[in-house]
Amino acid sequence: MIEENDILAILFRVTYIRDRFHLFKYPFTEKLLEQWRLFLRQFPNENACYTYLYDHKWPDGFRCPKCNYPNCTKILTRRMPIYQCHQCYHQTTLTANTIMELSRLPLQKWLMAFFFLSLDQIGVNAFQLHLLLQVTYKTAWTLHRKVRQAISQADFFELLGKTMDHSNKMDTVDTDEKTSSTPTFTTNSHTCGIMFERAPQHKPVMIGFEMNSPQMQADVANHSNVGKAGANSSINSSTYSHKHTHDPLITHIKLKLIPTTHMVGIDRVSSPYVATYKHLHFEKHISPDQITHAPRMSYRQRRAVQKAFDYMIRRFIQTYGTIKNKYLQFYFNEMCFYYEATIHQYSIFHRLSKLSMIYKAHKAIRAN
Ligand SMILES: [Zn+2]
Repeated sequence: MIEENDILAILFRVTYIRDRFHLFKYPFTEKLLEQWRLFLRQFPNENACYTYLYDHKWPDGFRCPKCNYPNCTKILTRRMPIYQCHQCYHQTTLTANTIMELSRLPLQKWLMAFFFLSLDQIGVNAFQLHLLLQVTYKTAWTLHRKVRQAISQADFFELLGKTMDHSNKMDTVDTDEKTSSTPTFTTNSHTCGIMFERAPQHKPVMIGFEMNSPQMQADVANHSNVGKAGANSSINSSTYSHKHTHDPLITHIKLKLIPTTHMVGIDRVSSPYVATYKHLHFEKHISPDQITHAPRMSYRQRRAVQKAFDYMIRRFIQTYGTIKNKYLQFYFNEMCFYYEATIHQYSIFHRLSKLSMIYKAHKAIRAN
């Protein structure tokens, strides 16, 4: 098992903790180690991990993935139990059809990975995971990629504009995954929009977002730690602080790379691309003209989008440096995931566990 000192050294990217006591004086460090001890108490062995993930996969008890029948026989000849449906004789396991399928890693390593990835103050990359989990770099990289795939799949199905005109819908979505109660949103307090930006390496990206008015933002702030960031809660700048409290708050966001073929000149995007973007990433009940474009937004609205974008890019660079084009979209989806988790105070650990278990439950798997 990895030593606590090593965890700190790896997370804070120092090869040797010479200044150990200096590091320890940050409240975040103490809190982190406390959470780690709690994790080990909650998940001391494979059994505990199995039960936890089982509850995520089958919260209402076993269901056959083929015919939805609730009764099965448990066959205990392999490393993991096989469940055979009483009705159609289909055989399944806990990890079948999840990101853990075909992986030989113990479940505890997966949950440890979720633990380290859920530290929202610190972005953890594959190299750090390799050291923290004590697995090969290749294994850590693959694991991290699969987590990003699960996040990307959720991103594909979670459309923007849920809270617009369907105010009561908010309560029915994932309420069990939040650590705090859902703020009450009312009709017309939300704005949907898109904005063109340049990501690192000058990649053109389209930002799609949902923002709420300053009055509504006050409600969200009461329910979360947004705005409390500072020396007490964080030791680096990646924590999101909402300084301009009268500005709108971006509550949901998507960053999508724009294929260069859809660029018209340097800073204009083709209209078919914009139309497809709105169609793909916003709820069906939102008409395209309800989605504001940057030139029609107020200064404060633009500043709010800019701020959320800067936060994500800063975290991206701090964690990964540069990333090859091929995977960039997956990393952007991950950044949006962390941003929203910070804003809505989701338990990231809980959410990653859930996403990993429901992965592939839907057929479509794609980055955009
Ligand atoms: Zn069945």
